[in-house]
Amino acid sequence: MPVNDIDAPQRVTADQLVPDIPGVIFQFQRDHDGQLHFSYLNGCSTTLKNIDRSLLAQNAGELMEELIGEDHPKIMSAIERSARSLLPLTTRFRFSSRKGHSRWVAVSAKPTAISGGVQWNGIMIDISDQVGEEQRLRKLCDTDPLTELPNRRKLMLHLTNAVSLSSRHATPLSIMMIDIDHFKRLNDCCGHLYGDSVLTQLAIQAQSLLRCEDMIARLGGEEFMVVLPLTPLQQCHTLADRIRHTVSVHDFGMGTGQVTLSIGVAEYRCGEPMSILIDRADQALYKAKDAGRNCVCLLR
Ligand code: GH3
Ligand code: MG
Ligand code: MG
Repeated sequence: MPVNDIDAPQRVTADQLVPDIPGVIFQFQRDHDGQLHFSYLNGCSTTLKNIDRSLLAQNAGELMEELIGEDHPKIMSAIERSARSLLPLTTRFRFSSRKGHSRWVAVSAKPTAISGGVQWNGIMIDISDQVGEEQRLRKLCDTDPLTELPNRRKLMLHLTNAVSLSSRHATPLSIMMIDIDHFKRLNDCCGHLYGDSVLTQLAIQAQSLLRCEDMIARLGGEEFMVVLPLTPLQQCHTLADRIRHTVSVHDFGMGTGQVTLSIGVAEYRCGEPMSILIDRADQALYKAKDAGRNCVCLLR
């Protein structure tokens, strides 16, 4: 027995312990012909409660495909990589029960080459609570708490990807820089709470005019950015003017015409750094402010 293992005063065997642990210990095999089966599976994971374990023992392939669904290709390539390299299989996947409930499961297993193929000894545990918490924290990190739009951090990541796709595939990409006109004055005369409600309503209004692949984010204060993949400059300008007009005739609670926008638009030029694109949209926005506000400007 390794020196750091604990031997209980009243000796407990693994056979007594394993059926009660909140997870599953398994031995899994992939034969040379690609057949998958569990030669051992034990533990009291609720995730596997209604699963036919005898089927998993004979031919696990089909049942795994059915239960793992969307994540099945990811699991199969992780198994393949581990089989080839004989490095540990460590991954997580969603597991859907026949009742349609979805749980997150983490798997960690050590492979060994055997005469018939590759065999893994490992554990699976339900990590749905941790994944739920991770998702909650990620949302918190990426979201502006007032408008619930993506924040600057999320937008910059998204724009980095959009720029890279546009460069790689030579597809158009445009952005809008939106700034509320005289927002300080609006706050001063109608109150900060009213200002907050304008920001929230504006987010909803602008979002309703966008496609699902577009992203609007709050950069900070009364400034927003819209990223429009597959959109040339002229189309972006037309959409920006529709947003500007919609807002200018909307009643935000104090009558129409109280809130107006200045918008700068710019299109990505293949190969340029992202900061140059943002700078061009910024300059177009300044041009719109100089031109008297409540208008859309572009820089060619
Ligand atoms: P311009 O037309 O030149 O853009 O003028 P402006 O008044 O909109 O611009 P300025 O930068 O002078 O003022 C922006 C104001 O936005 C000042 C700040 O108090 C207000 N602001 C920033 N964040 C918030 C917020 O979360 N809620 C509210 N109510 N006001 C905010
Ligand atoms: Mg501003
Ligand atoms: Mg402003």
